[in-house]
Amino acid sequence: MRYAIISDIHGNLPALEQVLAALADERIDQYLCLGDIVGYGASPNECCQLVQQTAAICIRGNHDEAIVRSGKEDWFNAEARACLLWTRQQLTEENRHWLASLEPIAQVGEITLCHGSVPDPDYYTTTAQGALHSFAAMSTSLAFFGHTHYAEWFKYRSDWDLPAQHSHPEGGICQLEQDFQYLINPGAVGQPRDDNPQASFAVYDDEQQQVTIHRLDYDIPAAQQKMFAAGLPPSMALRLALGI
Ligand code: ZN
Repeated sequence: MRYAIISDIHGNLPALEQVLAALADERIDQYLCLGDIVGYGASPNECCQLVQQTAAICIRGNHDEAIVRSGKEDWFNAEARACLLWTRQQLTEENRHWLASLEPIAQVGEITLCHGSVPDPDYYTTTAQGALHSFAAMSTSLAFFGHTHYAEWFKYRSDWDLPAQHSHPEGGICQLEQDFQYLINPGAVGQPRDDNPQASFAVYDDEQQQVTIHRLDYDIPAAQQKMFAAGLPPSMALRLALGI
């Protein structure tokens, strides 16, 4: 099986369309989405619809949850909150229901899908120490996570003190080895923060035991223009060009 793993789309339709077009050439059997379909970007409904049509399994992210549950917006800074409130107004009833129906974690065969970490969807896994929480809670040897918007992976074996951390902002191939566990972030489709503004996604080939992180150019000015036109905070549009 070949799986596509996408995460943190954040209402960025030009990025999502470009990624799905690239994946059309990758002989994908199943699409998996790690959440944060909405929030920040100007096309929440279009992104919800495309993910619904494409992904066999989709879990929810913290933005998806905050948009469908009142009170959660207090967790966000002023600009993220402004995006969240705008998104709430734009969402169709159907897409709101869909987001509200998503689970925070899923297991697909031998793969665990989570947003922030395996035990906590809101946790930012940025360090080897932090990754240990997920390795301790995983019942599979492979898990994918998002939330930080960094393309990277952690590798671990139970006799190691700490996982090894490998950051791959330019993309890369992770060859899975037996007796190790892996926690892999495919990076963000719609708002990368690892200093590379290219859209990020992963392909997992379970026969080759390989996960490839791809980075891809997309029409950033088009995404920014949509955000300016919608009256979203300009800083949220400008950061797309910087990958921060
Ligand atoms: Zn996110």
